[in-house]
Amino acid sequence: MSRNRWLGKRLPNSRAGRRAARKFMPGERLEDAIAAAQRLRADGIAVVLTELGEDITDASDAQRAAQGYEVALEALAAAGLDAHVSVKATHLGLLLDPGDTAERISTLAERAAALKGVVWIDMEASNLVDATLDLYETVRRRHPNVGLCIQAYLRRTPADVERLLPLKPRIRLVKGTYREAPEIAYQSRREVSDAYEQVARQLVAGGAEVGLATQDIDLLNRLDLDCEIQMMYGVRAGDQRKLAAQGRRVRVLISYGSEWFAWYMRRLAERPANVWFALRAAVGS
Ligand SMILES: Cc1cc2nc3c(=O)[nH]c(=O)nc-3n(C[C@H](O)[C@H](O)[C@H](O)COP(=O)(O)OP(=O)(O)OC[C@H]3O[C@@H](n4cnc5c(N)ncnc54)[C@H](O)[C@@H]3O)c2cc1C
Repeated sequence: MSRNRWLGKRLPNSRAGRRAARKFMPGERLEDAIAAAQRLRADGIAVVLTELGEDITDASDAQRAAQGYEVALEALAAAGLDAHVSVKATHLGLLLDPGDTAERISTLAERAAALKGVVWIDMEASNLVDATLDLYETVRRRHPNVGLCIQAYLRRTPADVERLLPLKPRIRLVKGTYREAPEIAYQSRREVSDAYEQVARQLVAGGAEVGLATQDIDLLNRLDLDCEIQMMYGVRAGDQRKLAAQGRRVRVLISYGSEWFAWYMRRLAERPANVWFALRAAVGS
């Protein structure tokens, strides 16, 4: 459904669609994200901001997206918040020109470094993993304040980690959210969390700086690693506060922007109960 054009045109323009998406994003404007970040800070929770958008096919749009991230970094710093942003490589032009994309991310990393911030690179579908790893290597050689997301469900990931470890990388480890074929990715919940555990330990043993990005509290307890925990805005908010109150480092990813359709469909797919929530929100009950 994340690629359904008919729905993708209609849902974002409907009041009901917007209302449903609000479960996972405080609003479409950067100001909404900053205000939510300030509320989270009161609970001892840090943030990372992402402007929704992907698969850009026009270089001027990619450039505009990069400039938007500079504004976001400045706004975070001005509000006294950690200047962390997370970008999708295809939002900054990876499908058009990897070299230009690396330059855009380098410029952001420089700006972020001046603000003591970090630029994270999301991981997208499996056909983009090679290009995204190459991109990360290029930018990381010049900028230590760049992090990369890797997906535990991919069968290739332990080998990718071996390739990245010499860079002393900063890694956000997730389970993975795209639908992938069985020969590419583990499918069962059990296999995916076992893979997550194995990769998390491989990263920590290899000296990477690791963010455990998962809302799976049982898995976090099983891992029992002293790493930052990263979760999504609107998911298990009570647990986020509880973990922060226990002294764990917690960072919440806040999304904003009007291009939320494909992203929102992935959130629904992660948990069937969300579909009922969305339908209830759509009819306004
Ligand atoms: C900070 C952050 C960054 C991410 N970046 C990427 C990325 O760059 N690339 C990528 O492929 N994936 C990314 N993801 C998504 C990730 O791959 C998973 O799809 C997502 O986190 C759900 O998996 P889980 O680890 O929370 O475990 P699950 O087993 O899916 O969930 C554990 C529990 O968390 C709750 N939960 C999880 N998801 C939801 C939801 N959508 N709505 C309501 N409750 C939910 C439920 O209670 C569920 O039982 C990111 C996730 C986070 C938290």
